[in-house]
Amino acid sequence: MTMPILLNGARGRMGQAIAAVAEEEGCRIVAECDIGSNPVEHLPNCGVVVDFSSHESTPDLAEECAAQGKPLVIGTTGHTPEETERIKACAEKIPMVWAGNYSIGVNLLIHLTRQAAKLLPESYHPEIVEMHHRHKKDAPSGTAENLLEAVLEGRQWEPEAALRSRSGLTGERPDQEVGVHALRGGSVVGEHTVVFAGPSERIEFSHSAGDRSIFARGALTAAKWVAGKKPGIYRMGEVLGLTD
Ligand code: NAD
Repeated sequence: MTMPILLNGARGRMGQAIAAVAEEEGCRIVAECDIGSNPVEHLPNCGVVVDFSSHESTPDLAEECAAQGKPLVIGTTGHTPEETERIKACAEKIPMVWAGNYSIGVNLLIHLTRQAAKLLPESYHPEIVEMHHRHKKDAPSGTAENLLEAVLEGRQWEPEAALRSRSGLTGERPDQEVGVHALRGGSVVGEHTVVFAGPSERIEFSHSAGDRSIFARGALTAAKWVAGKKPGIYRMGEVLGLTD
């Protein structure tokens, strides 16, 4: 049985990457929606909705999915706090997988980052560096935000420990801080490095994306997994069995 998918943002870079691998991943795109189309009328025909449009459109789509009981895979990033709250409210009615990055490698990176943050002493200072193509609209990336969460969880630090840019600041770097730095340019698909800089040694975990098919295949794996789950928000780590 192939999984019938409603794909939102179908004309975009990710939308096209998903359509290209759908059949191989045991899925069938039954509706390709983009600006100008109304996903609501296609919802009854799909098993799962996969959204790679833009952050502004995800809350409306999530509310429609909640109204019609359709599971949702959220690929969009850069949601405002208000958008985030609206999406979270929908998870009381439907299951959703919500990940800033659907690749297997990045999700392993997130898992290892959480473990390293837990195990290494505070004198091993965490810093996150990411680079993406010049067209990317949000910064830092959703993946960098996920890595930041992993460090904060591992260290059991409050969100105030996050520092998204150090430029203009002077003085010594505090121990209880995690810096996040975004680079933009060229056609870079996505690169993320987490550094733990200790007193006399440095550990780095890095991931480099070759092309968008890694996100596309991961999102479709999530779509097949989420169908039939209880309402709630699931991480990609749970889909892949990377539990702590
Ligand atoms: P893109 O700009 O190439 O494509 C976005 C598509 O969405 C466009 O075709 C656009 O017309 C459409 N769109 C915009 N507003 C819409 C609306 N209101 N309704 C329906 N369609 C709408 O962007 P992209 O590179 O494909 O990325 C799309 C999103 O996915 C971004 O938020 C990006 O950050 C995110 N992304 C996530 C992952 C992941 O693994 N989670 C990976 C890559 C990109």
